[in-house]
Amino acid sequence: MSQVKAKGTEDHGSKNLCQETIDKLISQSQEAKKQAYCPYSNFRVGAALLTQDNRVFTGCNVENACYNLGVCAERNAMAKAVSEGYKSFKAIAIASDMTDQFISPCGGCRQFMREFGLKWQVYMTKPNGSYQNKTVDELLPISFGPEDLSMADA
Ligand SMILES: [Zn+2]
Repeated sequence: MSQVKAKGTEDHGSKNLCQETIDKLISQSQEAKKQAYCPYSNFRVGAALLTQDNRVFTGCNVENACYNLGVCAERNAMAKAVSEGYKSFKAIAIASDMTDQFISPCGGCRQFMREFGLKWQVYMTKPNGSYQNKTVDELLPISFGPEDLSMADA
């Protein structure tokens, strides 16, 4: 069986993001939300993903008449980054229109994030810019990832 361990997915703690960077990332996620294509749910979501070298990739949810083909904003942003050669992330900010609670990533997106490390930050926000942040590890504990497949080779 071939090696499947993904390269460039080392964990990089990012608790040291400055407030200005966090606020800007949140603002970019809110901007991305405006592009949401969600005629079925009318639930707009935007995401802004910060790479280790400080590039930002944004994404929005993209729904489909065949409902289960819809793609979340977070996965959209990650796929954009990976397709441009970026696999090492500091943080992702997620925005929605919910004012009464922080937007939280779905289970599928948590697993997708986990592929690229456990210790990077997820900023779950409200439209007023307030947020709650957790690491990927905190959002998806006792998870399964690329390292687990590598161990199966031994
Ligand atoms: Zn999702």
